[in-house]
Amino acid sequence: MPAEEFRVEAHRVADWVAAYRERVAGFPVRARVRPGEVAARIPDAPPDEPEPIAGILRDLDEIVLPGLTHWNHPGFLAYFPSSSSAPGVLAEFVIAGLGINAMLWRTSPAATELEERMVEWLRRAVGLPDGFRGIILDTASTASFPALLAAREATGLEVRERGLAGRHDIGRLTIYVSEQAHSSLEKAAIAAGLGRSGVRRIATDEAYRMDVTDLAATIRKDREAGHRPVMVCATLGTTSTGSVDPASAIADVADREGVWFHVDAAYAGPAAMLPELRPRFDGWERADSIVLNPHKWMGTPMDCSVLLFRRPETFRASLALTPEYLRSGVGGVTNLMDYGLALGRRFRALKLWFLFRSFGTDGLRRMLREHVRLARSFAERIEADDGFELAAPLSFGTVCFRATVEGGDAEALNRELLEAVNEEGRVFLSDTELEGRFTLRLSVGSVHTTAEDVEAAYESLGRARGALTRGEAGH
Ligand code: PLP
Repeated sequence: MPAEEFRVEAHRVADWVAAYRERVAGFPVRARVRPGEVAARIPDAPPDEPEPIAGILRDLDEIVLPGLTHWNHPGFLAYFPSSSSAPGVLAEFVIAGLGINAMLWRTSPAATELEERMVEWLRRAVGLPDGFRGIILDTASTASFPALLAAREATGLEVRERGLAGRHDIGRLTIYVSEQAHSSLEKAAIAAGLGRSGVRRIATDEAYRMDVTDLAATIRKDREAGHRPVMVCATLGTTSTGSVDPASAIADVADREGVWFHVDAAYAGPAAMLPELRPRFDGWERADSIVLNPHKWMGTPMDCSVLLFRRPETFRASLALTPEYLRSGVGGVTNLMDYGLALGRRFRALKLWFLFRSFGTDGLRRMLREHVRLARSFAERIEADDGFELAAPLSFGTVCFRATVEGGDAEALNRELLEAVNEEGRVFLSDTELEGRFTLRLSVGSVHTTAEDVEAAYESLGRARGALTRGEAGH
């Protein structure tokens, strides 16, 4: 594509994206297509002849948009919203335009050094002490994995060199997470050769926080059985409810046992920017590694996950490998490929740079505070409403609740209610299971969500509950 044509098309695409963002609130949040419907409209094979960008954009409108669930819809209140702030979108365009690969310092010194600076900005913003360094990865799942590999290496079992298969000199390797921990930790254990049976799920209390007495007892039992504890993970902001494990007490156990202490703050980590919420993170400063996702609650578009760690040398010891063709010949610099599994690396630091500078930390704090306020006011309305009940204490911006029914089938009512609200399309909510019970979940975390959207969720729930309990929807 000649340069002048690129300029014209870039403006056309920018206009398309800007227009999409203006009209997104008019779409149903959740896609309404049936499985296979989108694929059926896409040819089996690529075109032989070039097609104009305008034609691709037309099909984007006609074929792709109806098949999307709109994560940038202000009514997106499901899962943990991951929204694209305007500065984040602009950064993505620049990242693609530059198209560099930050695998070695030499392959783009500015990308490596900006990444180091952005990790440092984030560390300061969330109030972690000096001594943490880090890298920017795609997701928390791929960040927790190298943390576990480093923890495994820190045991001195030389797994990097000798592997695990056929080793009769070591017992089972184990990690400790709460019953509420995210499945990514279990996946990391699978990939690291510990197996699912190496994952100890520690009991939680009435507020879904890890029971530290159970943690200590489980580790003790494992040691007696000849197992080798490798990592303890505290989740600060669990996936279902946003509950906060007691990091200080967990750090005490990890210290005493000489076990790597990992913190999964993928969702709630940004909330540590708020002085009033910082105490919930007490103890995370003692972690060996921490994962925090700016793409969940800070407005950077997918993907942007920051892994902070104290012992860079342990990460290098677990994974760094430099074949001749990657020798840089430059000493005293960071080669980011040494800290994770991927060699090639996108210039993700630009997203944080654009974000921090466009919002300022005050702007980010205002956004986070408003989300917490909206969630609290929704929770208060649920609590005051006879037709609903809260299902878990509120920690950040995520509310767990249920519709109540006297003498009827509460599970069926709640399932139908969720489906009715999501089918209506003004907002999108999700669900989870707490103590075996189907539970509705509303999470405020999108840069686009306002009080009006949370109000719309409450009204939609009330309407749907009314219709279902009156039997209008076949309940
Ligand atoms: N940890 C927690 C607490 C999460 O809630 C999630 C996802 O929601 C993850 C980890 C995994 O995040 P990612 O999608 O970045 O791998």
